Amino acid sequence: MFRKVLLSLSVAACVSGTAIAQLQPCWSDEHHNHLLKVHPQLAEYEQQFEEQVAAKLAAKLTEAGDANDTVYYDVPLVVHVVHDYGVENLSDDDIYEAAKNWALAFVKKNADTATVLPAFVPYIGNARIRLHLATIDPNGNPTKGVVRHNSYLTFAAADEAKYQSWPNNKYINIWFINSFGSSGAAAYAYYPSSGAFMPYYDGVISLASYLNTSKTIPHELGHVLNLQHVWGNNNNAGVACGNDGVDDTPPTKGHTPGCVSSALFDTECAVGYSKTYISMSGLADSVVDYPDTTNAQNIMDYTYCSNMFTKGQCARMRKALTSATAGRNNLITTANLAQTGALAEMPDLPPVADFFVNKAVAVGIVTDLKTKFLTFNNDASFSFKNASWNDTISSIHWEFSNGASLPTSASKGIVNNQFSVPGWVTVSLTATSNAGSDVMIDPQAVYAADTTPVGGVGYSQSFASAGDIYNWPMMNYYHNQFRWQHFTGAGKDDNSCIRYRSFDTSDKIYGTASGDYDDIFTPAFNLEGVSGDLYLNFFSAGMVTSLSSSALRDSLEVDVTTSGGVRWVKLGGYRGTELANNGSKSSEFIPGASSSWAARAISVPAAYRTRQTFFRLRYRPGDNGNNLYVDNLALSSLPADIQDISKSNDQFVLYPNPAANGSTLAFRAGNDGNVKISIRDVSGRIVFEQSENYVQNSIYSTLISREKTPVAGMYIVTVTTGGANITGKLLVY
Ligand SMILES: [Zn+2]
Repeated sequence: MFRKVLLSLSVAACVSGTAIAQLQPCWSDEHHNHLLKVHPQLAEYEQQFEEQVAAKLAAKLTEAGDANDTVYYDVPLVVHVVHDYGVENLSDDDIYEAAKNWALAFVKKNADTATVLPAFVPYIGNARIRLHLATIDPNGNPTKGVVRHNSYLTFAAADEAKYQSWPNNKYINIWFINSFGSSGAAAYAYYPSSGAFMPYYDGVISLASYLNTSKTIPHELGHVLNLQHVWGNNNNAGVACGNDGVDDTPPTKGHTPGCVSSALFDTECAVGYSKTYISMSGLADSVVDYPDTTNAQNIMDYTYCSNMFTKGQCARMRKALTSATAGRNNLITTANLAQTGALAEMPDLPPVADFFVNKAVAVGIVTDLKTKFLTFNNDASFSFKNASWNDTISSIHWEFSNGASLPTSASKGIVNNQFSVPGWVTVSLTATSNAGSDVMIDPQAVYAADTTPVGGVGYSQSFASAGDIYNWPMMNYYHNQFRWQHFTGAGKDDNSCIRYRSFDTSDKIYGTASGDYDDIFTPAFNLEGVSGDLYLNFFSAGMVTSLSSSALRDSLEVDVTTSGGVRWVKLGGYRGTELANNGSKSSEFIPGASSSWAARAISVPAAYRTRQTFFRLRYRPGDNGNNLYVDNLALSSLPADIQDISKSNDQFVLYPNPAANGSTLAFRAGNDGNVKISIRDVSGRIVFEQSENYVQNSIYSTLISREKTPVAGMYIVTVTTGGANITGKLLVY
């Protein structure tokens, strides 16, 4: 439920721009306001929490601050790096360095407090909050406080990218991602009241590029500890004078990024701002005349010359850490600090071995996206890159199967390799540090495709057994439930096919299919010298789980390569309602009747008819897809989409004909919708007969498999529909 809500929010709150200066620094208000709209009961919850905080803050905050409150609070952190092996895969050392830096502002040790304008020097607060990367994970295992998740969710990220969060009453979770998509925010976080409402999304999420930029993370941690923007949380920066519920931050409109004097000496909302405090001791009430300029250097403004929290903000953060809301008060307990190892020294742990296939490289060509498919003995290479982490790596050692040009290699960070034996390639990487070793073995690291053609025009594949697809590699790039698979339980003409499992069996709170993509590759075909029309035909049966326009995001793309996988060219594709030809269904879709299948024909231009032409089906699941089934993939001079039938007087077409491996019968249902198909051999004996009801005057097709016409020779095919018999010949060789 939250998933849809927040995605639509992402669109609404868009601020365009790519340069750092143009990014909206923080999206917390947008997320918070949207949550309030969708879950009005949150407002009541927030009000109760604010009343608790106000009661605790009733004492006047003098220039000395809350002099009696000198206790330090310690807080465990965990950093999640959600990455796809790009620049967002931040190094351990960069994270450790940044974490030290974030901590400074919470103990008033950041050096740039020296540049705070004199009027605000008396108000610089020391939150006395010490941040620590955890050294024990939720399972009780040692950690260095950084975990990594390889996922497409790093792109166009939102709350769903925060999967695998650690309990929010024990750790503050901070996720780093590559991008929030086109929407251009730098980071956002939730207040404790929102965190209590949806603990699995509680924490900070930020662009990896803002790891250590302009106090972005201290700002977001401010929100986690219940600080609002200095102009208030139902306002936008630069719009109207507002107030954040903190006395010593004067009212302000807030500012856009930039340390300009108009911001630093902005008096617009702050002139004459003072507060009267009722005496607690029966003596005279006192008035504090706060500065007449706004506190543009406040970490909760957007100026990026953010140098300070005020004393009032520090008191507010400390109250959040003593409140049970979202279990914040558990973070600082002695028991939790022991459980999370927050106060322990960072342990020396063995590395985590990891590698990825970077790009396929050839002379002058570097392919985009993940490339795990090349023909064996290809001039191009697979490029394997070490990505081991968790300790300073002293040595690495690679091993490769399949007649690799470099079967073993030590301490090379990048290995470009070619393979002389077709099939799946096993790659192992051993990473060693002073603290031990770790091995990563991937038995399907890449695929070296055989170049021997399995057929040409007339080829047909019905995926009858799993063995039929041994040379049809399926790539599940992100190792998740959304993937290609052989399926027995439905088929166009039999009980087997291949399918893309787009139906989401999870609760959809963690993760979303959107952004994933997966491939299945065909074997090589010999299409050299084929003239005239040529089609890659197949049948597909699809559905979605919802017919709303945002739900129709699933797509299937058909690509071709004549360079053994170095370069791919898109030939065609299907999406939306066209792909979901059976409409919508909230439960998992499995096709029933033969009429569930739609004929697909992709024209193969002459330029791609070589002795080694491969095709690739690339599926991109959306948020509300259901399964897509694909069957009877064939190469033919006639298209499976049978517009031609309706143009001509013929009521049916057989192709290929003559045929060696089955032929597709395309026909038009007549005025009564009833269609009877019968096939007789030359002796007149019926070898196949079928009668079914279809939508009247619509076009369908069915495969006459070779099993139905086992003996080579001539057959008589009769289609009876709308009160008419049409007869034709099928030649089987
Ligand atoms: Zn913010």
